[in-house]
Amino acid sequence: MRSTRELLNGHHHHPRPTVAPPADLPEPLRPPDTGACPRCHDAGWLRVEVSVGHPSFGRMIRCDCLIEKETKQRGRENRRLSQLDGLEDRSFESFDTSVEGVEDAFAITKAFADEPDGWLVMTGRVGSGKTHLAVAIANARLAAGEQTVMFTVVPDLLDHLRATFDPSRGIDYDERFNQFRNAFLLVLDDLGTENTTPWAREKLFQIINHRYNERLPTVITTNRPFSEIDERIVSRMLDRSLSRAIVFDRAEDYRQRGQPGYVRGKPFRPYR
Ligand SMILES: [Zn+2]
Repeated sequence: MRSTRELLNGHHHHPRPTVAPPADLPEPLRPPDTGACPRCHDAGWLRVEVSVGHPSFGRMIRCDCLIEKETKQRGRENRRLSQLDGLEDRSFESFDTSVEGVEDAFAITKAFADEPDGWLVMTGRVGSGKTHLAVAIANARLAAGEQTVMFTVVPDLLDHLRATFDPSRGIDYDERFNQFRNAFLLVLDDLGTENTTPWAREKLFQIINHRYNERLPTVITTNRPFSEIDERIVSRMLDRSLSRAIVFDRAEDYRQRGQPGYVRGKPFRPYR
């Protein structure tokens, strides 16, 4: 959206127009006698003051104060859609980097938040800080003005999908489903703990597979052994051309799978 200033500066071949509060607005839009905004007196709109015949004659434009208000409103709406409400406190600033072995995980997730690219798979036991950092990535992108950031705990997502995609009801379209599928950034927390119907499981796979094919930035956290996760999803999580993995601790699961050693909190690439 062009600001008032840009609009006014955009017509150099015409006399430079000035703006004034509108004089003949209907009652609700009438500027009050005193307002916080000195330009529009809180009406939100300005009439471009130009002579008859000027292309902008009679035109109403948004005051910068209204543009700012609308931007804040959009930010709130984006936050509501993202499902990050109530998780504002989980940021990089509030993350305890003094815990042994988390420095690399912190650096990698911070870099990902600055420039989301590919997938980030974060594994480790409950309480290892992976969810905090995953949420911090989403919060950072939202704060940067990203419009479609989505956070979801996978069992909750599956509950939603199960409720929405009841095959007996024949519903095959769901707006929420598409938001998860197409969001610029999707954070899937707690993958693998879900106990759900084959139908919902298939829908989850469709979301993940679409994001895999489109290489959309995606963050996945799990504390489950890969043997408990849909193997089609695991094979995509382990695609090293797309996905980067961070291990938050020496989880028993990995030793059991006979993986080579790795350093706590270090990126762990050689899955296979
Ligand atoms: Zn104003």
